Parts: sequence; structure tokens; C-alpha cells
Amino acid sequence: MNDLFPYPLRPGQDGIIRLIRDSVRGGRCVVLESGTGTGKTSVSLAGALEGISGTARKVVFLTRTKSQQKQVAVEARAIGARTDVICIAVQGRGPATCPMMLSDRDLSDGTSEELSKLCAELKKGTGPAGKCSYFENIGSTEVEACISFIRARHPDPEEFRDFCAARGICPYETVKKLLPYANVVSAPYAFFFIPAIKNHFLQWMGVSDREVVVIVDEAHNLPSYLRDSMTCRCTARSLDLADSEADRNGNPLLVQDISCKDIVQLMRDIMADAQKEYLRRESDMIPPDYLGEEMMVRLGMTSAGVRDLVMRLAEVGISIEESKKAKRKLPRSHLSSLAGFIYAWMSFDSYSHVFLVSGGDNPYLEAYCLDPGEAAEPLSTCLSSVSMSGTLSPLKDYAGEMGLEDPVSEVFPSPFPKENLEVFYVNDVSTKFSEINSDDGTYDRLKRYVVDIVGASDRSTAVFFPSYGVMERFVEDKVPDALGREVYFERRGMPQSELMEQISDFLGKEGSVLFAVTGGRGSEGLDFPGRQLELAVIVGIPFAHPSAKQDALIGYCQNRFGNGWDMAVRVPAVRKMRQAIGRLIRSEGDRGMAVILDRRVASLDGLDAKLTSDPVAEVRRFFQSH
Ligand code: SF4
Repeated sequence: MNDLFPYPLRPGQDGIIRLIRDSVRGGRCVVLESGTGTGKTSVSLAGALEGISGTARKVVFLTRTKSQQKQVAVEARAIGARTDVICIAVQGRGPATCPMMLSDRDLSDGTSEELSKLCAELKKGTGPAGKCSYFENIGSTEVEACISFIRARHPDPEEFRDFCAARGICPYETVKKLLPYANVVSAPYAFFFIPAIKNHFLQWMGVSDREVVVIVDEAHNLPSYLRDSMTCRCTARSLDLADSEADRNGNPLLVQDISCKDIVQLMRDIMADAQKEYLRRESDMIPPDYLGEEMMVRLGMTSAGVRDLVMRLAEVGISIEESKKAKRKLPRSHLSSLAGFIYAWMSFDSYSHVFLVSGGDNPYLEAYCLDPGEAAEPLSTCLSSVSMSGTLSPLKDYAGEMGLEDPVSEVFPSPFPKENLEVFYVNDVSTKFSEINSDDGTYDRLKRYVVDIVGASDRSTAVFFPSYGVMERFVEDKVPDALGREVYFERRGMPQSELMEQISDFLGKEGSVLFAVTGGRGSEGLDFPGRQLELAVIVGIPFAHPSAKQDALIGYCQNRFGNGWDMAVRVPAVRKMRQAIGRLIRSEGDRGMAVILDRRVASLDGLDAKLTSDPVAEVRRFFQSH
């Protein structure tokens, strides 16, 4: 067995490959936690490919980020060097895959839906917008050249884009033509979990979902991804934009006496009244039928009448989009988005969604998805799915949320020596709101701990905070200056390019310090192998900020699974800390220590942390012996 696995097997890897292979052959779903060093990407690919060998089925490897797609390409290249396996990466339309966008700055902030509409017009080439030459250039000779290139080089997505750029062809459209040749296709989550995209995706590949094995990488992110994808929001600013759009387009009448601007004003009034009636904190719940009923009462219409009106609003939005397309502009309409929001809100129910109004600078109405089960259905309807992550436990909670019946579930621990990682916590501080803001000295002790623990070694160190707010307080109080070391930051709302610059500078200067947020981009998905990171200080437990949404989620998990606080609060917080600690050990020779500054660790399962009264001495001892 394991003909497809391209490396010498480490302990435990053959077990994972066999488990996936047999589950795929039996058409079963797999839920697994596999620790650092189990080689998740390569073993899952090898197991899934063995499971479909001798058939025309395909493996679809779903990732959350583009960098994870690159990793899939690296592993598929190693497999492809010994076999005829072909791996192709699909990415959404964006500057990297659509050269037309690169040549027109106005298009660069378009959503993939807007770009898709414009692209469809340019591919037809019959309207006033003209043709897309990058599409016109894709002939059968080009497709054959691409296939030869892929067979010979097994390129990653960037190498493939460069190849297309040199030939003047569109990477996005070329990939679509190549998918039938692929055994492995890597794609962002959206390609399999957004129904309209999934249908096209299957068509391009030339398979049904019963001929696809889906691997979900970093699957612990999937429930929140699916919740977000099923959530809709209407903000005060989006209403302003819709209002201006109505003005620019002559404020069309929808039915007699009711214009687009009237609907925008109606939404503003409803939002303001909902705030007066229900808002007691940052955001609060409102009745599910509030919007629909208020529209009916205020407009004097039946529900069918309101639906017709919303349909008319959508038609006005579509005609605005059409006229923009004809001018090669992004087909964006805020009136169309408003119609989509009202329609979606009225079609959700109180089992799957909670309905909210907020205050603040940019108040909103939001239908937040509690139950991601419906959106997760593709995991159950495909031939077999493999959900995996280094931090997926408790597996039965994940399977329950995703609606997976009787999956094969297993935890594969890291094969690396346990003594290479030590985790401690202290019991005289916490970041609980009432304690960090009290006058009992908690906050001062936290600052002292950070300064002393970082100062106890000269190793590269990350300080992870439970929120940007707590990190900003430490920065305002000049804690970075007190460290006497170079400090780099993952700041609130920082563009990805700036964050990567900070990370790259941190990696380039051994012994420096990174301030980041537990659960943020610096604590998940980035690798810090070897001496690039050896000490992590976790300032407090990153429990979710108390809010109406959080209360609703706890209630939903309690009603559905009987463990609301655990599923909605404890598990996500522990998972974020495990992800942050996981940055320390990326290979067999890595060693690292983590210190959690929060007494509440004592009552949390799943962290395997030892109590210490002297974390500074523990840090000195650990690094003296390593
Ligand atoms: Fe962009 Fe390609 Fe569509 Fe042309 S065909 S608009 S380059 S995605």
C-alpha cells in the first residue's frame, strides 16, 4: 500500500492513509484531528487518491487560504513526480486570475459576483462593452500547451498564472477548460459550499457530486465560515449608498406612489424604531418577523404585495447593473443588494437565524445564521468527505454541527516528542472584564508578567492577546518599550500585505517579539519553524465578547446539542489557544514553551497546561536545557 505517498512514512501516517482510503472506498465521511507532524495534506491526498484509484472520480481539496492551496500543489507535485496524478488549483476571479482586472483599477474592488457578471458580458462580446482578448486567445492549441506544461512541471497557482500571462490568456477561464483532466482540484471553500458556484464547479470538472471526494483542510474554521456565508446584513451606510444610487438614476417608481428612495427611507425608519424598542447594548435581538410586518403595516400591503415590491426593487437594481456592464464598469447596484437583503431576511426562520439590530457609528439590521447544517449538506451528499484539522476536537460536536451521520472519527496525535513542548499557566491573573478593570492590581501583574517572561530568554517570542482592545491598552501603556526588544505588530484591520511585512521582519530578526491576537491571522495558518518562534505568552483566554449574537449561539447549541456554553464558548477559546501554541512546534526538532496568563485555565479541559507560581524560572530552566 501507500504507493502514492511520496515520502518515508513517519509513525502513524500509514494508519491515517489506510483510514481515509477505506472510508472513501466505503463511501463514508471522515472527521479527524491530526496533530502537527502527521503531514495532513500529503496523507489525506494519498489516502483519498488510493480510495478512488482505477476510477474517473476526483479529489477536491478545499482550503481557506491561497497559501494552503500552494501547499496542496507542493504535495501533489511530489505525488505527481511518481505517478500520472494531475493537480489543478481553482481560485475565484480577482487581480491574480483575471488580467482584465489588473489592467483596470476600477475593477479591482469588485466582488466575485460582480466580476462574474461583467466577465459573462465580455465573453459574449456582442454588447457595447466589447470582447475580452484574454478569453479570445484561449484556443485548443493553448489548452494543449497548458496540459503539457502541467504534466511536466506540476506548477503551483502562481507558476501557472505566469505561464498564462506569457501567452496572453486568461488563467481563470483556462483552468475551467483543464479541470476535466485533473485528478486533484484544490479550491477555496466557496466552490463547494455556495450552491450556485458548486453547480458550475461540478459541471466544469465533468463529474457529479457522487464522483467527488472532498477534503476540508483546517475544518475547524468551516462552521463559522458557513455561518458567515448564510448571514446577511444591511447597514446605515449601505442605505446611504442605495439612496444616492436612486438619486443618480432618477429615483424610479416601483409601484404607484412608492419610489426607490421611499423604500430606503422606510428601511431607515424601521431600523431607528427597532433601535428604540429593542436596543439595550451594542446589539440586541428583534422578532424574526419584525421587518416583514413593519413593511406591511407601513406600506399598507399584504406580504405578497411586499414581495412584489422587493422584486421590482431588484429589477431596478438589475437594470442599473446592466447599464454599467455595457460600459465595462463593475455591475454593482446598492438597490439590488438592498432587495437581496430584504428577500433573504424574509425567507429565514427563527430556528436557523437570529435577527438583530445594532447601534454604533454604522448601525445595522442583521440576520445571523446559527445553524450551518443546511450549508454543510455537500459534505454528506458527495461520495465521501474528509474533514481534518490539528484542532478539531471534540469531533462529535463538529459532526453534529455539520449534520454528518455516523462518520469515521479519530484523533491522531503529533508524532513529535512530547517533551519538546511545555505549557504552563499562572493562577493570580485573568483578563476577565471585571478583574482586568478592577483596582486589585490584576492589570499591573499582567504587564509585569509579560515584561518579565519575555525578558527571561532571548528567544523569538510571540505575545498573544485575547482582543485588539487589550493589546492596544498594553501598547498605550508602553509595554513594548519596556521589553527592550524589537517588537512587531498585527494591528486591527491591517491589510494582509502590511501584516506579511511585519511577520517577515519578525522572522528576519531572531530574538524579536510579535504582538498578535489569539485567533487572529498571526496565530493561525502561519508557520514559524525552528528558532523563528520559541516562546509564546498568551495573555488571557480569548472568550468571545458577550453579545446578543453570542447569547443566541449559546441558546441554539444548548437546545440542539445540550452543551451550549461548551460548544459556543469554551471549545472555540481552547481551539484558538491550541492554534497559537501550535505555532511553536512545526517540525521534529522544534522546541517551545507557552505560558498562559489566566487563572481560568484550571477549569478548562483540552490544554494540558501545568500550574506554576514562577513562570520566569520555568522559562529560564527550559531554555537553559535546550
Ligand atoms: Fe477576466 Fe478572464 Fe473574464 Fe476576461 S475572461 S474578464 S480576463 S476572468
